[in-house]
Amino acid sequence: MRVLVIGGGMAGLSATISLRSAGIEVDVIERDPAWGVYGVGIIQPANALRALDVLGLAQACVEAGQPIRGDRTYLGDGTTQIAAHEWPTLVAGLPPGNGITRPKLHEILTTATNNSGANVRTGVTATEIRDIGDQVEVACSDGTQATYDVVVGADGLYSQTRAQLFGSELKPAFSGQVCWRYNLPRIEGLEEILVFLGPNGTLGFTPIGRDLMYAFLIETPMPGQAEAIEREGAAAIMRQRLEPFAGPILELRELVSDDDAVVLRPIDTILVPEPWYRGRVVLLGDAAHGTSPHAGQGAAQALDDGIVLAQELARGVPVPDALQAFVDRRFERCRLVVEKSLAIGRWEQDHTLPIDPDATRMEIAMSAAAPI
Ligand SMILES: Cc1cc2nc3c(=O)[nH]c(=O)nc-3n(C[C@H](O)[C@H](O)[C@H](O)COP(=O)(O)OP(=O)(O)OC[C@H]3O[C@@H](n4cnc5c(N)ncnc54)[C@H](O)[C@@H]3O)c2cc1C
Repeated sequence: MRVLVIGGGMAGLSATISLRSAGIEVDVIERDPAWGVYGVGIIQPANALRALDVLGLAQACVEAGQPIRGDRTYLGDGTTQIAAHEWPTLVAGLPPGNGITRPKLHEILTTATNNSGANVRTGVTATEIRDIGDQVEVACSDGTQATYDVVVGADGLYSQTRAQLFGSELKPAFSGQVCWRYNLPRIEGLEEILVFLGPNGTLGFTPIGRDLMYAFLIETPMPGQAEAIEREGAAAIMRQRLEPFAGPILELRELVSDDDAVVLRPIDTILVPEPWYRGRVVLLGDAAHGTSPHAGQGAAQALDDGIVLAQELARGVPVPDALQAFVDRRFERCRLVVEKSLAIGRWEQDHTLPIDPDATRMEIAMSAAAPI
């Protein structure tokens, strides 16, 4: 079997490493010539560590990151605690969660991919994908052409593969919120996620290294405020957006000073209706189920996708059956993550809605922790 993976992010690399472990030939094409990722960090809940353990990479992530043992939620005044949870461990010998910088995680995944024997080409995308029944013909932007048994569209939230195969009207929708992120020195001893519920959004701190944490602020943008800000002055705007919050941010806010280190993204989401494949081309990760970050589950689900797809393709059943089995195992869980995460975001925009954000987050975590 020969597989083409389009997109060298978390979903694509999880699939690649898993497929290579099963002895399947894999080509990867990645659009970014530098094959890089932006700064800041990522929360790896217990199921993300479980997936990384299957890939043989959990220990490396834990060594490069910082354990997370639970979470604690306060009101925006910084002192009124309203919830606290200790996270259960899913894999013996590993912490219940981990925080890591995105560049470090990317380095671990790309090194494993390169060592797996996959053939990776960067600065390349697919220009034409033609399903011819029992094979897929693909033309690439570097002028090459090849045929594959399966093509994996792991090219992220704004997937070109999805647009090509499922139609361009199926695209992410704006959730009404944006997310600001910035790396700060870790609060001494911090081994949990701290969350502060303000009038206009949620501020949080996630440890991602021995000396590092990242601050995230998920909020409804001011009317007229651009979702993609100009670099110049970005830090000043972020500092201003942090003003309604008390607690640890009072001492940290002035450190938000480097315009280039501010990461601001609109929170766009999508849930592609099942099935996530057309013929022999299948969508994975954010391309199929891009979630809002309220439960820190997007990357974790992307990793699980790659593992499950490889398991099904390695069974040796006809490819259409394998792809259907993949969707059968993944759709409901990803639907729950996307829809419940969005519900938390809706509550953050309107506190009168009958949603218990804490219970919803727990429901997502419990569902995600079930065997894949
Ligand atoms: C604000 C925010 C915070 C988040 N925090 C967390 C968190 O704490 N924990 C968590 O688990 N998840 C989090 N996520 C979600 C997580 O980042 C995504 O779910 C995850 O990156 C999805 O992986 P992916 O491989 O599907 O897509 P991506 O990571 O987007 O990777 C797609 C890859 O495909 C490449 N590509 C794109 N188009 C093409 C093309 N046409 N041809 C070839 N290559 C292409 C891209 O360059 C990229 O390398 C967060 C998301 C946001 C927006």
